[in-house]
Amino acid sequence: MSQTVDQRKSPGRIQQLSASVINKIAAGEVIERPASVVKELMENSVDAHATRIDVLIEKGGADLISITDNGSGIEPDDLTLAVTSHATSKIADADDLFSVATMGFRGEALASIAEVSHMKIRSRTGQQDSGFELLVHGGNAEPPVPCGCAPGTSIEVANLFFNTPVRQKFLRTTQTEMGHITEAFTRIALPNPHIQMTLKHNQRIIHELPATNNWLERIQGFFGDEIASHLIPIESEDSGIRLSGFVANPKINRSNNKMQYLFLNRRHIRDRSLQHALSEAYRGLLMVGRFPITFLKLEMPPNIIDVNVHPAKLEVRFQDGGRLYSQLLGTIRNKFLTTDLTATQQQPVAPVDSAAGSSESTMENWSRQQLNQSFGDTSLPGEQNELAFPNRQPVRDWVTHPRESSAATTPAFQPYEHPAPVSPNVGPHFSTEHAALNPDYQSDQPPTQNYRALQLHNRYLVTENDEGLVIIDQHALHERVIYEQLREKVLAGKLETQRLLVPEPVSLTAAEAALVLDNQEILSEIGIEVDSFGGDSILVSGYPAMLVNHNPAEILRNVVELLQNEGKKPERRDVIDSLLHLISCKAAIKAGDKLTAEEIEDLLRHRDLCQDSHHCPHGRPTALVFTRNELDKRFKRI
Ligand code: ADP
Ligand code: MG
Repeated sequence: MSQTVDQRKSPGRIQQLSASVINKIAAGEVIERPASVVKELMENSVDAHATRIDVLIEKGGADLISITDNGSGIEPDDLTLAVTSHATSKIADADDLFSVATMGFRGEALASIAEVSHMKIRSRTGQQDSGFELLVHGGNAEPPVPCGCAPGTSIEVANLFFNTPVRQKFLRTTQTEMGHITEAFTRIALPNPHIQMTLKHNQRIIHELPATNNWLERIQGFFGDEIASHLIPIESEDSGIRLSGFVANPKINRSNNKMQYLFLNRRHIRDRSLQHALSEAYRGLLMVGRFPITFLKLEMPPNIIDVNVHPAKLEVRFQDGGRLYSQLLGTIRNKFLTTDLTATQQQPVAPVDSAAGSSESTMENWSRQQLNQSFGDTSLPGEQNELAFPNRQPVRDWVTHPRESSAATTPAFQPYEHPAPVSPNVGPHFSTEHAALNPDYQSDQPPTQNYRALQLHNRYLVTENDEGLVIIDQHALHERVIYEQLREKVLAGKLETQRLLVPEPVSLTAAEAALVLDNQEILSEIGIEVDSFGGDSILVSGYPAMLVNHNPAEILRNVVELLQNEGKKPERRDVIDSLLHLISCKAAIKAGDKLTAEEIEDLLRHRDLCQDSHHCPHGRPTALVFTRNELDKRFKRI
């Protein structure tokens, strides 16, 4: 360190840096590690319209990086220029910068790489009979000499960072560097399925990808059948911006966002705002701390993006980021609404017809019933009094019909009746085979839905749909139903608060009390009314009507725990969402609760009205489906 200080020039003397120093500085920006070389060279091959690219690596790229393509090749006269900094064939003037359609344009990659390695370029254009070879040692180019080679370009980069020992010292293990290289390779191979590509490390084949015009096939080539079979295609277009690709069924997810591949005009990018849109789209479908898997392509005219804001062009600036955010969020949400996300293989599914009439009015009815039952008849003071002690009288506020007092009146076993006929044209997955199976089938009969199920172990409901056998987790489903109800009410500002006639003081620690008061406003949005009660006590004067069976102190303690888990500076909507999860979990029927036939029917009816009835708000599936096909197979019928 002291050496650097000693050698420092006195301030005030301005010198033009030598080309070598400039290139080394540029190299520092563009070439961080072997993977950066792979990225830059592969991008050049893509820009040269190669249909085949072979990447050969030795010792994690520290010894050798060799990339061969069958692209346009470089004219012999241009070879030396290609390794000169700011030499590019891709843009000519500053205006071109705002309509870049190629991967490269800065004209510094080859120069930077050549500056810090031993580089050998062999290239031949389609018009030439033989190629030319150029050697560059640490930035010093020899004159090109003729050589025999196939049309295209082959670049070998040996001893990377041999003359920049600091960089070299920062190289990690072969395995780590190879990991970065594989990722760089993936990011270029994914959006270019039409290019045949191979990646080899120390003579071992890592990836061998045939050219294909099916994107899913390329994705599968990298990530296997498990992921590929759970991808849901999405597509949309809005004012010249085309979004297409795949989002994974939420049941397949990751603990980080590395599997969120986003390509803008075939260039891999990372974008915070769009990543946020993805989390929003999966909100309520994934457990906290889990991330969706997505493969998305954005295509838009180059003149509405600025790609020149990041040295490795990893980040870009959009002219209308807000609109793009909405497009992404909207497209995925709409797709999920019309997709059966139940824990079975992906299949598009038609909206379920409900005998209960239009879903809107039914939803309304249900809310009203819930409201009435939570509040009781508010005009009677006697009942209001009782609500001040909500634990005394358990109220089943989710059932349309009051509970029978004796379990004996409800048969434990509800024989499953043959489902009512369903019109064969309700959905693309409905085959005539179903109709043929049902002797009562009449095409002109209006579709009805059966809401009967068998309750097992007081926790699972077994029923069927036209796909197969369905097993529902009663708690998870009810939790989901309530969550969606609550969310709608909060959005409409119509959540009912149960005001306590005698507010209840709850003593907490000083930190806990402060946390609660900090969030006083958010809490009131979801119906929890709190105030300071002196010292470390908090006075609860109201709480969500849904939780009428619960003790205010218990609710508050749960809320404190939740707020503590949110960490510093949580987003307001995240807090509200977590609180809604908490409330729905508490208000829902539990595993172990015996249900009457009416309660089961009611729950199943609401299942069909849910936006996403397939997952509880924590992201666990609410139902498992065993398709008829699967059952037939297991029973060796087919
Ligand atoms: P940029 O890609 O930003 O133009 P580079 O330093 O990466 O700058 O490349 C300089 C020039 O060399 C390119 O503009 C291109 O004309 C030529 N070039 C580089 N690699 C190849 C290749 N594999 N095939 C054909 N031409 C290439
Ligand atoms: Mg380039």
